[in-house]
Amino acid sequence: MSVSGLFTTSDLETISRAARLAESLTCDFFNLPCDEWKQNPYRMLTIKNVSRDFHIDQVFAHVVRIQPANKASNKSGQADRYGVILQDPYILRELFKTNSFDLWPLALYVMTHELTHIVRFKKFGIDFFASENHRMNEESVVDGYTRDILTGTVSSKKMDRYVKFGRF
Ligand SMILES: [Zn+2]
Repeated sequence: MSVSGLFTTSDLETISRAARLAESLTCDFFNLPCDEWKQNPYRMLTIKNVSRDFHIDQVFAHVVRIQPANKASNKSGQADRYGVILQDPYILRELFKTNSFDLWPLALYVMTHELTHIVRFKKFGIDFFASENHRMNEESVVDGYTRDILTGTVSSKKMDRYVKFGRF
């Protein structure tokens, strides 16, 4: 945890562990092959890794779509990849507000939520560029799935708080 608003190395280790658990939980829940995330890797980024264009106010994390280079001449049929951008300052600020300083449950919620978005884009035909209305609806669908996936892992009181004070 740092006062500069950026994740420390130890925070990033916690987030990586949360990501690994989120990968395995989403595979089980959506019946995906157990090597799904190895075969179709996503990139995990923090605000240090991306330009200001990708910073979104008050959002804990969001998904970006990364098109393969030379898409026009892409003969191998390589699929679009996705990235999860974690916004350190908003995640850390939430922890300071709650006085719990416990990154694990929030990181697990965020990663499970974002991976669920990616599964929905890739396997359920959800439009990445959907209208605002559809996006709001998709947010509540994804939140519902995330809660089901994390039942018994993160308390529902905590999840209520994350959803109330954050955006994903
Ligand atoms: Zn979301």
